[in-house]
Amino acid sequence: RQAEFARLRDVAAVTADGTRISLLTNAGLAVDLENLNETGAEGIGLFRTEFQFMVSEQLPRLDTQTALYKLVLDAAGDRPVTFRTLDIGGDKVLPYLETEREENPALGRRAIRLGLDRPALLRLQLRALLAAGANRELRVMFPMIATVDEFRAARELVDIECEWARRRGRPLPALLRVGAMIECPSLLWHLDALLPLTDFVSVGSNDLFQYMYAADRTNPLVSDRYDPLSPPALRALQTIQRVCAETGTPVSVCGELAGRPLEAFALLTLGFTRLSAPAGGVGPVKRMILSADLTAAKRGMTNLLGSSAGSIRNEIESLARKLNVAI
Ligand code: PEP
Ligand code: MG
Repeated sequence: RQAEFARLRDVAAVTADGTRISLLTNAGLAVDLENLNETGAEGIGLFRTEFQFMVSEQLPRLDTQTALYKLVLDAAGDRPVTFRTLDIGGDKVLPYLETEREENPALGRRAIRLGLDRPALLRLQLRALLAAGANRELRVMFPMIATVDEFRAARELVDIECEWARRRGRPLPALLRVGAMIECPSLLWHLDALLPLTDFVSVGSNDLFQYMYAADRTNPLVSDRYDPLSPPALRALQTIQRVCAETGTPVSVCGELAGRPLEAFALLTLGFTRLSAPAGGVGPVKRMILSADLTAAKRGMTNLLGSSAGSIRNEIESLARKLNVAI
């Protein structure tokens, strides 16, 4: 299998009936950059910037942050990189950052909420990102956006930092794209307001489903009580895909789902054409893509989404097998 995946490295990810899929990878540390060449991913769809903060003993300084982001962009070359701003709080705590104890951290002041409450922290990171992205394309996205106002406020900090750099004569990115992660179910009913403000969105299905099913993803007692391959989860994804298609908003899926062939097959049938998978998933998912005839698969999936069953995993698997999809 490994040899087969290596052979597929330079093969374009096109389905058997000709749909071009962008297959990207997730990363978070400098060591992950090797995977970019090894897997043949087309870029980094999710760079988890908090990893640098988590392995550090103190708050990484501006130049330390800038150096990492530059390294990542240099390694990626022409391939796109999407930097996700700090996603801490919840189960990810930084010993050097004083925060209040919370009864319910997963529902607490995590990710963009912390960034907006501590704008100096977020602004420092944005300054580092803008400096690293000078004269090239920079893509930044905000995690755990739950309301349109949060996105507006976060984007305003980007504008403030751009202005800060401009006033000092610092070069800015040649192209700046700012996006939101869709991880909070609230956004599903406010995409019409959110999407016009964003340049792209990415679905964080790990958190989206955790919040949809009210099941802590880090708690083994409850984390597998639901199946992502269930009508509610897939219909939620379908809604996001449809609204993005209607409004011409680029959308990707960057949760763990995108790295598992059967789940990724389901995503393709819903119309997603941009997936960001953990490095180990890139080869297996590309193999699946090459074998999939989407026209027939989409028809099959439409019927399954109407099911009253809690999980349609077996049905999706049968559909894939019937169509000779390499799952
Ligand atoms: C997600 O929630 O799906 C996601 C990609 O972000 P993380 O796993 O880092 O929370
Ligand atoms: Mg998340």
